[in-house]
Amino acid sequence: MTNQYHSSIVKKHKTLPARVMQFSTPHGNVLTPAFMPVGTRAMLNYLTPTDLKAAGSEIILGGNTYHMLVAPGMDVLQAVGGMHRFMGWDKAMLTDSGGFQVLSLSKKGQICLIDEEGAHFKHPITGKIIHLNPHTSIGTQKIIGADIIMAFDQCTPETGGREAALAALDRTHRWLLLCKEEQEKNPNSAYGLRQALFGIIQGGSFRDLRDTSTEFVVNLDLDGIAIGGEVIGFDMPKTAEIIDWVRPMLPANKIRYTMGVGLNPQDLIDVVAKGIDIFDCVAPTRNARHGTLYHGDLVERDGWLAFEGERISIKKGLYAKDDQPLMQDCTCYTCQRFSRAYLHYLFKEGLIAYFHLASIHNVHVMQMTCAKMREIMLRDD
Ligand SMILES: [Zn+2]
Repeated sequence: MTNQYHSSIVKKHKTLPARVMQFSTPHGNVLTPAFMPVGTRAMLNYLTPTDLKAAGSEIILGGNTYHMLVAPGMDVLQAVGGMHRFMGWDKAMLTDSGGFQVLSLSKKGQICLIDEEGAHFKHPITGKIIHLNPHTSIGTQKIIGADIIMAFDQCTPETGGREAALAALDRTHRWLLLCKEEQEKNPNSAYGLRQALFGIIQGGSFRDLRDTSTEFVVNLDLDGIAIGGEVIGFDMPKTAEIIDWVRPMLPANKIRYTMGVGLNPQDLIDVVAKGIDIFDCVAPTRNARHGTLYHGDLVERDGWLAFEGERISIKKGLYAKDDQPLMQDCTCYTCQRFSRAYLHYLFKEGLIAYFHLASIHNVHVMQMTCAKMREIMLRDD
């Protein structure tokens, strides 16, 4: 494997802005569209690296900077040679900068002060103050050692109006310059492997702010570009609209990442149709845990794809004697071997096996959806 990061277009869709991209990392190549299962705390709930690979995952979001600083801490990660080795994942990995946690922790009323210097947290157990700023966020991500690292940003809340969106955007831009400076000192991880740095476009739901932010981020010529903010992935019609605003300004050969998209398989299809390449979401595993399982058909229509179906709420009594698999055409381990009746039983009894089998299915459906989109575009002449 080469110690470099490089992205290029493999194939464009005939009519839509959708495309198949390839990017190379020191931990292997990734073909897009690619869904990244989320292991915020250096583990995927109920899934092993073998399960993730069996589903077709080539990249994961393998840990959040804030959580990793809290536990196990950077001295542990550095001692064991980084996050890939620590969690037994040898393919590509992206880490979050901690920006989103700054927003969610401050919302939950936990001690988190945010100012121009960054965010200041109190360690939940030791009480020690943790400073997250562009310098420490990038430094921490170098010790984590992911292949793609994210600029430290201030995620835009949807509640503060234009003033809050503008303030978050200005600060995000100032911090981005510092992140880039830090990255240029040494583009490699603490283990000597090349890391790609992605910048994040903010601007909330305001078109002029999104335009300003896009221009700023694109001009810095970073390795890839993310579209962030609380609205992304949460409000899908608005997400699609925002992508349409910014897409004409984005360079064609760089990876585009919508952060937090993937509540349903159809959400992936919708953003890819708009020209997005990668995305992450905790929803597939969280839904599985709560008994909500993806169910539907991947239907090709007019040269593109739709996920037609409804979710299965496995706790419902109607599945108690249902001998069918969760989803007829699903090739996952769970659907190949077990019935809805069995999963219903495991769920009702609170048996641990349920969480494993259900998570396998939900992540597999997301990856099948990506594989199908790639297949359509690659065969399309
Ligand atoms: Zn399945």
